[in-house]
Amino acid sequence: MIAVCIEPGSSDSLRLEDRTEPAPGPGDLLVEVLAVGICGTDHEIIEGDFGHPPPGRDRLVLGHEAVARVLGTPEGSRFEVGDLVAPIVRRPDPLPCPPCAVGEWDMCQNGRFAEAGIRGLDGYATERLALPEEFAVPVVAATGALGVLVEPASVVAKAWEHILHIGARAVWEPKTALVTGAGPIGLLAALFALDHCEQVYVLDRVADGTKPALVGDLGAIYQHEGLTAIDQRFDVVIECTGDTGLMLEAPEKTRPNGIVCLAGVAGEGSSGAAGFARDMVLENRTMFGTVNANRRHYEQAARVLAAADHSWLERMIDRRVPIDDWRDAFRREPDAVKTVIEFLPPGSPSAAS
Ligand SMILES: [Zn+2]
Repeated sequence: MIAVCIEPGSSDSLRLEDRTEPAPGPGDLLVEVLAVGICGTDHEIIEGDFGHPPPGRDRLVLGHEAVARVLGTPEGSRFEVGDLVAPIVRRPDPLPCPPCAVGEWDMCQNGRFAEAGIRGLDGYATERLALPEEFAVPVVAATGALGVLVEPASVVAKAWEHILHIGARAVWEPKTALVTGAGPIGLLAALFALDHCEQVYVLDRVADGTKPALVGDLGAIYQHEGLTAIDQRFDVVIECTGDTGLMLEAPEKTRPNGIVCLAGVAGEGSSGAAGFARDMVLENRTMFGTVNANRRHYEQAARVLAAADHSWLERMIDRRVPIDDWRDAFRREPDAVKTVIEFLPPGSPSAAS
């Protein structure tokens, strides 16, 4: 059985390896992977900047965004053979801390969590794996291989949940949102934003191609001439690029009581911090960071994807690479929105049937 593996901390160590077949334990599903999405975190791991292998090992199976089909179930399972699932990335720390103890591992307080394909736990870029049932989220059949988007969508579901919680500190009816960045997280943030807001802007650098078309078809407004070209303020700004300049400018684009959500991973450095802090205080603005997601966010993500326009979601995955050409999948394509490795062609019969 093949798996895409890497030695974390060592660049140029990406390999396709032969692995032994999984041996599901009690409570584990046996699943076959249909597709694995690739994101910026994978590229950071490939470049040797991030990631940890499982304890006592050198190599890590990559891949944390996946959709898989159930091949075998444990006794008394709520799943059936043939069901589709999205595996959850993060696993609670062993202590566990108070949030992990109640299933809110996305808010882990001691940092001792594991993450499949990222730190301390093998990922999903493999043909088959044993998956504890409690970390499998049902994906309805109609969503199909688009279930590969459940993980990135879960991060957005969590961000919106927190935005709405923070908004509920006062009377607040958000009508407008700005999303910075039209990558997968930004596009999914815009999809979710339209559930809450009448008007959604998406800002990105590229002037044409897939991104402006996807934003327009969603019913949002695309802007590529920079933040200063947008002569409007918003109830919600979701920053998805990690660009420090945009992060610091974002609060200026909020209306009074506006909320800035940072969903992009920040680089180092800051400037104009004093003025920024003053504005934050004087307009009761809230800025919060968000990462990862727990089960209810995955379940919400799966519901939103099931109800969304599937042809739009299909176009978001604009680069599909068969596993035989796996190395191509990890080549950076800056203009591509979402790259996915296909382990099984869409609609292929299950090994279980
Ligand atoms: Zn914890």
